[in-house]
Formats: sequence, C-alpha cells, structure tokens
Amino acid sequence: MLGVTGPDSVDEVIAMVEAHLPRPHDPWDDLVPAAGVRLTPKHYAYLKISEGCNHHCSFCVIPNLRGTLVSRPIGEIVREAENLKEAGVKELLVISQDTAAYGVDTKYKLDFAGGRPTRTRLLELCKELGRLNLWTRLHYVYPYPSVDDIVPLMAEGLILPYLDVPFQHAHPRVLKAMKRPASAEKNLERIAAWRAVCPDITIRSTFIAGFPGETEEEFEYLLDFLREARLDRVGCFAYSPVEGAQANALPGALPDEVREERRHRFMEVQAEISREKLAEKIGKTLEVIIDEPEDEDGVAVGRTKADAPDIDGVCYVTTDRHLTPGDIVRVRITANEEHDLIGREVVE
Ligand code: SF4
Repeated sequence: MLGVTGPDSVDEVIAMVEAHLPRPHDPWDDLVPAAGVRLTPKHYAYLKISEGCNHHCSFCVIPNLRGTLVSRPIGEIVREAENLKEAGVKELLVISQDTAAYGVDTKYKLDFAGGRPTRTRLLELCKELGRLNLWTRLHYVYPYPSVDDIVPLMAEGLILPYLDVPFQHAHPRVLKAMKRPASAEKNLERIAAWRAVCPDITIRSTFIAGFPGETEEEFEYLLDFLREARLDRVGCFAYSPVEGAQANALPGALPDEVREERRHRFMEVQAEISREKLAEKIGKTLEVIIDEPEDEDGVAVGRTKADAPDIDGVCYVTTDRHLTPGDIVRVRITANEEHDLIGREVVE
C-alpha cells in the first residue's frame, strides 16, 4: 500500500505513485547529488519550507519581491531532510519568511510524508523531522497560538529547544506603525508560558531601534521589555529605510545618530543579560556540535543547542583527541565571555 486518500483525490494518487516509482533519467539533474548542492559545511544545512509572506510589515518589501506565502509539500521537505541526513548532515536549520505560518496557504492540506497521511502544518513537520534524530532548529517563528503546540516537542527532545522569534519592538504604538501582528503584553505572557513547558528553551529575537516616530519613552518601554523578557540571544538594528517600504512615508524620521545611539543602548542592556545567562551555564555539562577541529593548543570550536551557526555564540572546547566537524560531544562549561562559552570535553 502506498498510502490512503479520499474519493476524487486524483492528484494525491498520482503524487504517491510518482513518489514510489524510479525517476526517469535526467542528464542534468542526475549529476546533482540527492542532497542537492550546498554552500554550508557538510554537517549542517538550511531547510527552506516555504517562500513568501502574507504580512505587510511597513519596513519590509519581501512580500513585494517574493509574493504571498507558498508552502512546499510536506513529503518533499521530509524527503529532502532524509537525503541531507544520508549525506552526513547532523543539524537542520528550518527557514522561511514566516515558519509558523507553514501550510496556511494550503489550508493545512492532507499530504503524504514517509508513506503516511500527514497535514501540511508546522506541528506535523516538526514531528516528522524529529523522527530523523538530528538537531532540528526553527528560525523566523512568529508567536502565533500554534507555536504553543511546538514547545512540548522541544521539551521532549524531538526538536531543539530553540525558538528564533523576531519581535522587532515591544511598544504597542510602534508595533502598530510597523504593522506587526502581536502586542508586547501577550509576548511576555507567551515567553513565560514557553519557559514553564520547556525550561531549557533558548529564545532568540531581533529588534529595530529608532523606527520613524519612536519617542524616547517608547524606546525606554522597549528596554523595560528586554529587561523583563531576559531573552537569551538578541540582535538589534538601527532603523534603515528600505527602498519601496511603506515606513519611508511615516512622519518623525529620526536622525542617524539617534537611531545608532538607541541601538547601542539596547545592546548594552542585552550584553549584561547575555553575560548573566551564559554564566548560569558554568558547571553544567552540555552537548556541543563541533564546527572546527582542534587547533595546536587542543581547542576546537563548536556550538551548544542554544547557538545557531553564524548568528549566535560559540563554545571553545578543550579536548585531548581529534574532533571532526559534525561530532557531537559532551562539554563541561568552565567559563563564559559576553557571547561565548568555554569548556572541556567530558569523556566517559
Ligand atoms: S518582516 Fe517578515 S513577516 Fe514582516 S512582511 Fe517582511 S517577511 Fe513578512
């Protein structure tokens, strides 16, 4: 049996048969390995699950460039993930413009993944990817109510306890001017709820300082949010107009120096929080994926589950043996810097 469909599901029947038949030889594609041609190191890979976005944030032109949300079929994504695993990938970085909205455009259509009927929805996709027993990390997840169902999968260890949630601001008026969907009050409640379900969760976010019309009080409100939310990883950009964005027409554009000064103050507040949060890890033994083998001093570079490549910190690992990129080792954390951890490999 290849799968189960309903009446008149001709497209699904054809898709299932095609999925199980050998593909005809293609002289162009057949030169490309099943895992595709990747520019990332061999041990991690980006997995794009949809293209486009249904929001209209006033500072962004992506919907104009890429169009509205189009989700890839879940079976195709799972197959790509399986091929990547086969090719030696240990960590999947799930990306899109709006990850939590995956499947909305298909009305969460019933599809097939791994020969089973499966809905085109983030919850089901996370469960399918979780079966592969890789590190699966979610990026660009908006705090829709559906995210609450994903966090228990993190607590169970099916996917990494890591959420990249781009909040962009906290003040309700600024969020409205940005045309962002959620209010700051709800976001604080939501963060608390996620931590209650999954105490180890790492929350990363990005913010914009100096948005047109942002007052000093509104910026202070954002800093208070930051102090209260105590996010683990944060990036902040000084507002910069993008050609064609609606926000360019908003009154109250701030001088460059004010935008930059606010970004700097924001990052100062976060640096302290980040240092304190990393210090809490001293004495713990954490899993670390190796990105660079040890140097002549026996120090390799890797990342904990709390660190995505390129955007978060690293962990410097002292080891007595040869480590290869993609190795996952246990490391006792002995010290921290502002963004990075330092530790020694624990060999049992
Ligand atoms: S910022 Fe993100 S959510 Fe907003 S319009 Fe751009 S892509 Fe969509």
